Amino acid sequence: MNKKTIKDLDFKGKKVLLRVDFNVPIKDGVIQSDKRITAAMPTIKEVVKAGGKVILFSHLGRIKEEADKAKGDLAPVAKHLAKLLGQEVKFVNATKGKELEDAINSMKEKEIVMFQNTRYEDLNNKAESKNSPELGKYWASLGDVFVNDAFGTAHRAHASNVGIASNIKESAVGLLVQNELEMLGKGLDKPVKPFVAIIGGAKVSDKIAVIENLLTKADKILIGGGMAYTFLKAQGHAVGNSLVEDDYIDLAKKFLAESNGKILLPIDHAIASTYADEDRKVTDGIDIPEGTMALDLGDKSIKMYEESLTGSKTVVWNGPMGVAEFENFKQGTESVAKAIVKQPGVFSVIGGGDSAAAAIKLGFEDKFTHISTGGGASLTYMEGKVLPGIEAIQNK
Ligand code: ADP
Ligand code: MG
Repeated sequence: MNKKTIKDLDFKGKKVLLRVDFNVPIKDGVIQSDKRITAAMPTIKEVVKAGGKVILFSHLGRIKEEADKAKGDLAPVAKHLAKLLGQEVKFVNATKGKELEDAINSMKEKEIVMFQNTRYEDLNNKAESKNSPELGKYWASLGDVFVNDAFGTAHRAHASNVGIASNIKESAVGLLVQNELEMLGKGLDKPVKPFVAIIGGAKVSDKIAVIENLLTKADKILIGGGMAYTFLKAQGHAVGNSLVEDDYIDLAKKFLAESNGKILLPIDHAIASTYADEDRKVTDGIDIPEGTMALDLGDKSIKMYEESLTGSKTVVWNGPMGVAEFENFKQGTESVAKAIVKQPGVFSVIGGGDSAAAAIKLGFEDKFTHISTGGGASLTYMEGKVLPGIEAIQNK
């Protein structure tokens, strides 16, 4: 990792603009999960300890019209954070202007100010989400240094990350972002072999770049989930009513032809008559009967994938192996998760929002080496693409 981290900056007496990801689920003003808040605390505490003046900000949901402001209000988050830290967090209900500037300019070392949802600024021609140069410059002018600890939005170039970083003298990534980059980097850029990638989820079209990137790196790619049936159709198999993207059959053929046998596809399936949590029925072979759809790996495929994982030293996983939301079609995802974590000394990483959620729901939260906290950002990383919110941070 070549980006500056908080260890590289001196915070004493400095106004530290700290971009965090407090995009938490809130219902009627009550926070449903404070995971993202606790995840940002190590960096906040470090900067406080180092004598910085901490200016916190985040987005919360999407703000398209005035009426969205109420549910995007960050005040309850500031209150909750204060409780968790045991320290006052002064909340300013503004994203710019005199009240905010006065609050910042009267701060003492180790104090914390938090300002309102950065996306309130989207009501001005999407100034935040479209990275308006004036807004980035203005926010940068409020502080001395910038720390980006919001991994979840790192794949977007917004005023509150790229805008500020491009207009300030000193910048660094926070501890959460640093950990994400180190873990994803170990898994994808310097994998210990054998390296097995598992790609699933709904559509081929969402994962083209991930497959392309991993084809160059992994020893094997296990394909599951809805995208498997486009590949099977490309091989000439019957797929019934399973999810298929006809426009991607040619690309699937190309991937198969270029993969040197690296790509593995399911050899049987758990099927239902409609997209519903019906009783689990398993096909005998690879073809899917007319009038049915495949919603999960079948028993032989599960066995084959378990065996393929034997001895692996690095596993990167994106996308569930079936409709893991359904009780009767979660086996594929669950079995693969179990097979990964039982490999001795394996370095295992999950990226992708739904895969992470499925693994956590199935009880694997502490069993993987790393479960990424940023769905879109980790997907972008797996595509081998640059994350603009990280790229804009100064190099060491
Ligand atoms: P991630 O967020 O981890 O990148 P995706 O968003 O690509 O994953 O895919 C998750 C979705 O894929 C889930 O909602 C799941 O229901 C769906 N899915 C998995 N297998 C199938 C299948 N066989 N048919 C239809 N949808 C599927
Ligand atoms: Mg998803």
